[in-house]
Amino acid sequence: MNLESLPITSLPEMGEIWQKTLNWQPTNWEENQFQQLYQLILAGNCQLNLTRITEPEEFWEKHLWDSLRGIAPKQVFIPGIEKGKRIIDIGTGAGFPGIPISLVFPNSQVTLLDSTGKKISFIETILSALALNNAKTLLGRAEEIGQQIQHRQQYDLAVIRAVGNVSACAEYSLPLVKKGGLAVIYRGTWTQAENESLEIAVTQLGGVIELIEEFSTPLSNSIRHCLYLRKVANTPISFPRAVGIPSQKPI
Ligand code: SAH
Repeated sequence: MNLESLPITSLPEMGEIWQKTLNWQPTNWEENQFQQLYQLILAGNCQLNLTRITEPEEFWEKHLWDSLRGIAPKQVFIPGIEKGKRIIDIGTGAGFPGIPISLVFPNSQVTLLDSTGKKISFIETILSALALNNAKTLLGRAEEIGQQIQHRQQYDLAVIRAVGNVSACAEYSLPLVKKGGLAVIYRGTWTQAENESLEIAVTQLGGVIELIEEFSTPLSNSIRHCLYLRKVANTPISFPRAVGIPSQKPI
């Protein structure tokens, strides 16, 4: 990746908006890391189709702010996340929401899972460029990883954004979460009909719907929903089902 050949576009700082929406502000070091992440993704985009979101304000809002807003139900970060939690980002793509989370919470251990080898190799270069020692990559399908003893029911928190229909997201995430832990599904729109299908899926997977939050993004006022699923019982061993089934035959 050749950073020198790219013109430098600066991300906006948005200190007041961070403060108002999350009761938090990035340090200078975090700002600097966000900026480097932005440049690395712009550079990576020249070779890989990573993201369509490349304008600085849009990148700030849809990648940085949105990633962190999801782990702040009611605008306060999930308790204990600063002290260290085991987190998995399922279908991380170019690293969202997992990379911003690992950068802001260095005591947490973040696993970035994706089934596309090229994306995982790209993320490897980001992790070393940003010296993010608390994040690691995992190449595989959520359906298989969720059946492996070293991953199943091992995480305090699973996050998943833009990976598929909501029942599939629940089936990918809940098996990986410990009892008492949380799965967060990031969505755009949300309907009552989806609510019913989610309820059925979550119950079968050993979870309950703890909270569904609707909010709008601070610059473009786009509607977002985050679904917070609490794991209350062991997930039956039949879940997740084989590769492809959760998305083709949703629970
Ligand atoms: N979470 C990112 C990327 C979304 S694109 C964001 O919000 O920007 C969806 C990503 O999920 C792709 O990179 C794809 O390779 C990955 N993916 C889709 N199905 C998957 C599965 N079953 N297991 C693991 N990764 C999956």
